[in-house]
Amino acid sequence: MNADDTGKQIAYLAAALKAPRIRETAARLADQARDAGWTYEDYLAAVLDREVAARNASGAELRIRAAGFPARKTFEEFVFDHQPGIRRDQIVPLASGNYLAEARNIVLLGPPGTGKTHLATALGIAACHAGHRVLFATATDWVARLQDAHRHDRLRTELARLRRYGLIIIDEVGYLPFEQDAANLFFQLVSSRHEHASLILTSNLPFARWGDVFGDQTVAAAMIDRIVHHADVHTLKGASYRLKHLAENALPSVRVEQAD
Ligand code: ADP
Ligand code: MG
Repeated sequence: MNADDTGKQIAYLAAALKAPRIRETAARLADQARDAGWTYEDYLAAVLDREVAARNASGAELRIRAAGFPARKTFEEFVFDHQPGIRRDQIVPLASGNYLAEARNIVLLGPPGTGKTHLATALGIAACHAGHRVLFATATDWVARLQDAHRHDRLRTELARLRRYGLIIIDEVGYLPFEQDAANLFFQLVSSRHEHASLILTSNLPFARWGDVFGDQTVAAAMIDRIVHHADVHTLKGASYRLKHLAENALPSVRVEQAD
């Protein structure tokens, strides 16, 4: 078979495998293989490796888009020197997603603007890259979602569906206090994931104040108990990163508008 025919056959076979990219990588890597004297096995491995990498990347991108992150944030953008509450080596290794296999939780506490949402998002994006399905929403949004399911008599189905997500991020626990039924739904969400799948929670309030959020010390204590049973808890510190930044960089004539 001449080279043209082989090329056509590769294109046909790649399409049949639903891997049309192989057509282009096979041709490109064949030139490289001839120049560098690769073995047949080296060449096959290189072609397959490119395909797998491309598939993983597009899978990660789909998972990131489906997760509902408020913005894209990375660990690289996070200035750990500005955040005395957490060290890089406590958080960056979590990017591998090992804690997800163990259904461990991560709790990020601290005042507004200290980077809780940033780190929760970066962890979520890393989990998407590690092959996990992720959903991000605020505590208020989670409760609204569960209330809707409850109204339509499909709370159990919804909780079971959510357990298929390796990671659920609950941002801003404590910004708004919950009514009793909301607190109860939130408790069910936490319980349904306990020892099955991971949660990342962020809150501006220390655990001692969660009783006020859930309107009941006992419910709050039971919930905290389940959350921290297998969890890393980090307390971020200091003033809002953005405000500090503005203050340091502001020219005298700059007017600071209310952010967010
Ligand atoms: P929180 O959720 O704790 O209120 P955010 O994560 O929303 O705070 O942070 C507010 C803004 O400041 C975001 O744009 C975030 O990216 C940025 N930020 C906060 N801390 C840092 C940091 N240490 N390094 C870089 N950016 C930061
Ligand atoms: Mg936040």
